[in-house]
Order: sequence, then C-alpha cells, then structure tokens
Amino acid sequence: MNIILLGPPGAGKGTQAQILVEERGMVQLSTGDMLREARTSGTEMGKKVAEVMDRGDLVTDEIVIGLIREKLESGNAGGGFIFDGFPRTLAQADALGALLAEEGQALDAVIEMQVDDDTLVARVVNRAEEARAAGKPVRADDNAESMKTRLMAYYKQTSPLIGYYYAKGKLTSIDGLGAIDEVRASIAKVLG
Ligand code: AMP
Repeated sequence: MNIILLGPPGAGKGTQAQILVEERGMVQLSTGDMLREARTSGTEMGKKVAEVMDRGDLVTDEIVIGLIREKLESGNAGGGFIFDGFPRTLAQADALGALLAEEGQALDAVIEMQVDDDTLVARVVNRAEEARAAGKPVRADDNAESMKTRLMAYYKQTSPLIGYYYAKGKLTSIDGLGAIDEVRASIAKVLG
C-alpha cells in the first residue's frame, strides 16, 4: 500500500509516518529529511537548498522529484511507501503519479491531517525549545518567522492538492489535533 500524508508543517506527518514504519513495515519517504541530509553533505545542491529551506519557501520541483525518483527506482518497499511532505505542488503530484505508474504501482490513499494555524505555530516553536533543552540540533526553520512563510507556502502551493486527490477519490481528511495515539487510531481506521 502506498499512501501520502498531507498536511501543513507541524501537523504530525513525520510522527505518524514513524508509527506506520514500526507497525506496518512501510518505508517513509520524507523529502524534508532527504533535503536536510543533502545540505549537510556539502554538495552544490545542498548549499542551494539550505537558504530556501531556512526561509521556509519550497525548493524547486525538479530537485525534489529527482530525490523521489531515485528512491522509487532503487528499492521496492514490501510494506509500501509513505510519502511524507511530498508532493507539495500540483507538478509534484503529477510527477508522483507518473513515477508510480512507471514502477507498476498505485497510490492507495491520501490522508489529510487537519490542524489549526495557532496550534501549528505553537507545536513548531515548542519542538525547537525541546530540542534546545535536550542539547539537540534545532531546525533553522522551526521559528515563528519561517513558520509564517511555511504556512503560506502550504496554503498557496500545497492545499490545492486536497481538491486534486478528492477528485481522484483518494482523499480522507482526519482531525490531527488529538493526542498522538488518537491520530494514530484515525489513520488506522482509514487504512484498515
Ligand atoms: P519538512 O521537513 O517536510 O517540513 O520540510 C522542510 C523544508 O524542506 C520545507 O519547508 C521546504 O523548504 C523543503 N521541502 C521539503 N519537502 C519539499 C517538497 N516536496 N517540495 C519543496 N520543498 C520541500
């Protein structure tokens, strides 16, 4: 089964993806994680994306589609893929459909995690404070200023995907506000 977790920054996509990896042996494909890895590797691409990411804007479709293409071509996930933070634009959604078709695979479900803006900002600022307190690295884009840009990028460029997948009959929207375990249960209900 291949699924997309769709939702604004701070909605809990990464947390729920981790749970699905552990419980169902699925493979998480997070373009955010891939890009953070790329920037620490010191490659040209890494340097180019670092500034864009820290500001909270989206990196180019070409770069992220290339990252996903590599992963899809290089490995077959027995338990299926969880796309986390991808696609984020209509062009990426079209590209994903084409890539899956090339691999003889399908998209089974898109789960939209709904969380209000005030909660999202609070969660992300809190994530930074917790990391700082624990002496862990703090994401450069986990601050109120970048968060404004990230939210606007979501509403402008990513939220059209809600209609796109609804029209394809793939979309289920769930409440992402509850405790981690409550959200886990809502997702389990969708996936069966
Ligand atoms: P995330 O970890 O999903 O919140 O992503 C962190 C940042 O990486 C985003 O704010 C974007 O700058 C960049 N990014 C991650 N995934 C994508 C994507 N699919 N398209 C464009 N930019 C992305």
